[in-house]
Amino acid sequence: MVYFIGAGPGDPELITVKGQRLLGEADIIIYAGSLVNKELLKPAKSGCKIYNSAQMTLEEVIAVMEEGEREGKMTVRLHTGDPSIYGAIREQMDELDKRGIHYEVVPGVSSFCAAAAALKKEYTLPGVTQTIILTRMEGRTEVPDRESIQALASHKATMIIFLSVQMIDELVKRLQAGYGEDTPIAVVYKASWPEQKVIRGTLGNISALVGRENVRKTALIVVGGFLGNDYELSRLYDKTFSHEYRSAAE
Ligand code: SAH
Repeated sequence: MVYFIGAGPGDPELITVKGQRLLGEADIIIYAGSLVNKELLKPAKSGCKIYNSAQMTLEEVIAVMEEGEREGKMTVRLHTGDPSIYGAIREQMDELDKRGIHYEVVPGVSSFCAAAAALKKEYTLPGVTQTIILTRMEGRTEVPDRESIQALASHKATMIIFLSVQMIDELVKRLQAGYGEDTPIAVVYKASWPEQKVIRGTLGNISALVGRENVRKTALIVVGGFLGNDYELSRLYDKTFSHEYRSAAE
């Protein structure tokens, strides 16, 4: 049996209860060494074989899982954040399907949720936006043309950009095609880690601020009116608005 587990954004207390329990039961752990906090490996039982996938190919990862399966062992594949977002999990699941190896997925707290917590903001504000776009800018890996930053920015929704802080200058230029120059933007480096940094600015000045802090990786860029202070109150808690769980005040 193989479990794909979301490790959460970094703070070892932000893995799920289920994920932590399975880590303690694993015979084999393959973790994404570039981003997973090593603290999470502490509950591993003695004799557990631990592999860092940063130095491995897809074939090598699958070979470890396959061998474990032959020996009746339980393998945990530990991914950063939630594995469904830039996790390269699908290609592993497809290989396991081909081999008839059973697996389950345990979700995790994505870094974009940890970034909102660090900022103490809500991504979906009434009267501002009800949409969150999770994306990345093309770099060494392509992004389909119809998902260009300019095209997505035209919606003026909340946008969260992964894997792109090293290209912040170009990214900001493209964002300006959709959002105004005074639109608030923030860069959250290592959300939930002790070394977390939050850099706040506008599209006009963020590049310089990020350059000064020398943030070049492990950061999210979040942009949109949700970072501002103009919004409407939620209908959910509006005393004149009734819904399934509460009738309106007379
Ligand atoms: N599956 C992960 C994302 C993996 S892609 C998730 O759900 O969060 C790796 C990118 O995620 C990094 O380049 C960075 O943009 C972002 N990232 C991961 N952990 C982060 C953290 N703690 N703080 C800020 N950004 C993070």
